[in-house]
Amino acid sequence: MKAEIISIGTELLLGEIIDTNSAYIASRLPALGIDVYYQHTVGDNLSRAIEVLRRARDNNDVVITTGGLGPTEDDLTREAIAAVLGEDVHLDPELAEGLRQRSLRQGTPFLERTLKQAWLIPSARPITNARGSAPGWWVERDGKVIIAMPGPPGEMTRMWEEEVAPELLKRSDGAVLVTRTLKTTGMGEPLVDETLSQLLKSNNPSIGIYARPDGVHVRMGAKAPTQDEARRLIDEMEVRIRELLGIAVWGTDNETFMSTVGEMLAQRGLTLAVMESCTGGLLSDEITNVPGSSRYFRGGIVSYATEVKELMGVDPAVIARHGVISNETAAAMAAAVRDRLLADIGIGITGVAGPESQEGKPVGEVHIAIDGGGKLADQSLTFTFGQGREQIKRRAATQATMLLRRALLASEGAAS
Ligand code: AMP
Ligand code: MG
Repeated sequence: MKAEIISIGTELLLGEIIDTNSAYIASRLPALGIDVYYQHTVGDNLSRAIEVLRRARDNNDVVITTGGLGPTEDDLTREAIAAVLGEDVHLDPELAEGLRQRSLRQGTPFLERTLKQAWLIPSARPITNARGSAPGWWVERDGKVIIAMPGPPGEMTRMWEEEVAPELLKRSDGAVLVTRTLKTTGMGEPLVDETLSQLLKSNNPSIGIYARPDGVHVRMGAKAPTQDEARRLIDEMEVRIRELLGIAVWGTDNETFMSTVGEMLAQRGLTLAVMESCTGGLLSDEITNVPGSSRYFRGGIVSYATEVKELMGVDPAVIARHGVISNETAAAMAAAVRDRLLADIGIGITGVAGPESQEGKPVGEVHIAIDGGGKLADQSLTFTFGQGREQIKRRAATQATMLLRRALLASEGAAS
């Protein structure tokens, strides 16, 4: 089955907002056994939308659109689909009643123009929108399908997952692709490549190796007539890869470095506090992005100015002797925050995010320290990373998490 994705909206065409919907849909089609060869973006213009839709429908089995289903004058997707099929729109009484009920529930005035969202054509059935007012359209005629979904990503993804993808999977005749990614740390790309060399020739599952900010990822992709069969192939391959890579593998698919390290903290009943200078709260942000982080995260202090570091308990003599950008200051920050926030473990980060150098230290020099409070061995790490400000901050937060993982693994080894 062949599909084409069309995003509709002038703001997308002109690059004012980024088309995340097409990427989302495209990345999910292989799992359904559907091939995608083209994506198009068209503005809120009826004749051009008709042209793009007609061509897409001529050349594909399925056309998937997002956007242009709103109540406003420039939302033209329904009109365009009706024109392509030569069908007339009518008001569906049930959908219209649903819209009235919805505005009653929300206490918003009911506007006649929203009734456009209750339109149908003879070949269309509505697709439930659990998060918004505009239903989608499932349009089927002459063996071809057009699926129109709303533009707001929250509405679209929910509709995709609950209504559209299951229906497409039922009809799909192609081999479905299932992927799984194993995430590693501590091994460079060439070493992972060499370690897995005997498996790399496999073409089902195929194996890809990618260097990412949080380590080297090993992606497996298996094709089979059903998702269950593809998953079985992946399971078998995963066992073989894990045998070869051992503890270098820290997680899979959606797991983040922070989520796995957080789980290690929670399991051992340890709490964490952080004092951040150059990362400006980014590490705290990453820690608290993990649901359930309150089990182990006490809190964080952004001590950007030197006086704030001192106010928060960092010994001025340490700073005077070693400078702000130093291992010693990072260690003093870690100890101070552990103490002030009553945590088991403290992390301190100080460095030069740039673009100006500081204390004669180069841009990108970062010092990270862990104070284990006797429960973990103290750790420190210095690195210089020569890229832009944001990358330096991100890299520093990632390195801090990696250092914490190393400390936790080391003390596990020591305990057993
Ligand atoms: P529309 O239904 O065309 O009025 O779209 C409503 C809103 O959804 C737009 O203003 C965007 O914020 C968002 N949106 C529409 N299409 C996309 C897309 N392809 N990717 C990301 N966001 C989108
Ligand atoms: Mg629009």
